[in-house]
Amino acid sequence: MDYSYILLLIIFSFVSIFFIVFIYKYKKLFNNYTNLKNKISSKLNINLKNPSDDYIIHQSKTIINSFKEKYDKEKTKRKNIYSILEDLEEGVILVYYHRGDLINIDYANNKAKEVFTLNDYLGKSLTSVVDNHNLIDIILKSFKTNKDISDEILFYSPEKKYFNCKVKLTNFNNDFRIIILTDITKEKNLEELRKEFLTIMSHELRTPLSVINGYLETILMEDNLDNSNKKMLTIIEDESARLTRLVNDLLDLGRLEKPSLENMNYSKINLSRLVQTSYNFFNMLSKEINIDFNISLEDDLSIYGNEDRIFQVIYNLIDNALKFTSLKDDENKNVDLRLYKEKNNNMVEIILEIEDTGIGISSKELQKIFDMFYRIDKSRTRQITGVGLGLYIVKTILDNHKARIYLESEENSGTLFRISFKGV
Ligand code: ADP
Repeated sequence: MDYSYILLLIIFSFVSIFFIVFIYKYKKLFNNYTNLKNKISSKLNINLKNPSDDYIIHQSKTIINSFKEKYDKEKTKRKNIYSILEDLEEGVILVYYHRGDLINIDYANNKAKEVFTLNDYLGKSLTSVVDNHNLIDIILKSFKTNKDISDEILFYSPEKKYFNCKVKLTNFNNDFRIIILTDITKEKNLEELRKEFLTIMSHELRTPLSVINGYLETILMEDNLDNSNKKMLTIIEDESARLTRLVNDLLDLGRLEKPSLENMNYSKINLSRLVQTSYNFFNMLSKEINIDFNISLEDDLSIYGNEDRIFQVIYNLIDNALKFTSLKDDENKNVDLRLYKEKNNNMVEIILEIEDTGIGISSKELQKIFDMFYRIDKSRTRQITGVGLGLYIVKTILDNHKARIYLESEENSGTLFRISFKGV
């Protein structure tokens, strides 16, 4: 029997089965593709018989692929941005406004979680996870006023920490706010330490200084002192008086930096009257040093605050204006005092200006002028004694009164201090 015939038949049958299966699968695939094409074409209202429309289908496939590529790229970019946000030294919280003054959390990075009292915070209201109504208040204020707001806030829970909190508008949706928290605990603790040190040191210096002053006074009253000894003792007396002033200023500053004590003496102040009194106080002196001292004020302008402290501010600024104008060789020496009101968005602001034509302040010094112990190059003001505490005290008093101070100055031309108070 010829087996080769049978073998050939078997091989042929196998090949035919394989071929039939292949054709079947390909047809199914082709049908699926055609169905998809038909679906897309019916949705897009395209005629497949038309070769140009068929081309559009091919193009769409390419576009879809390129979208997928773009989507993947965006996804990676987003992942990178999130990982940067998570590693930031600053806390970042994204919140959105919900009906009835509720602020909900949309996102918070690792650092921000330090101020949360719960781990499960997403979508929750801020009040349920942050134990600090000052933060809630400034966020609500930002929603109400539609403005960026920043403030220093102390958190007691979960840990005592100081943060500088900035509430910023977003450019994508007005119902959202970004909160940026900068941890300033270290700086604040150092500042507290410095304040404590200065208060203790000033207290300790007060007693020996009053003993020295007392003995000096007694010795200087003696008749048999020779001239050179008297001269030396007078220098010691002057320097000792300077040191006493410094100690008193530092003790005063210690009291000022406890606003709760200061607030107890707040009342309605007739600022117009106080400015007029300050003017009268310096008027005689200004004539003696040949300075043309002028005043222009609106009557009955009032603010809320501590009258003695506000007098201290006005006194300091006029004293400086007269001192640093008297140093000028110029004939034309003026100091002007102005008080007037300004209306801004239904709020009455009271503006106090002290302007002089004195030696002025260079632009590089302007930033530092309100710093503690800052004095400009002593050689230019050798005749004038001071330790650079005056303007620091002025700024601290005004901060306590929520008043702002601005400064404009030009070297050898003059200086303008402008204070803006909230009127009552
Ligand atoms: P002090 O307590 O020593 O008087 P202040 O804090 O009042 O110091 O002022 C700091 C420095 O600012 C002064 O040393 C002075 O150089 C400068 N300054 C303040 N006011 C004026 C002014 N009106 N014109 C020019 N310089 C001024």
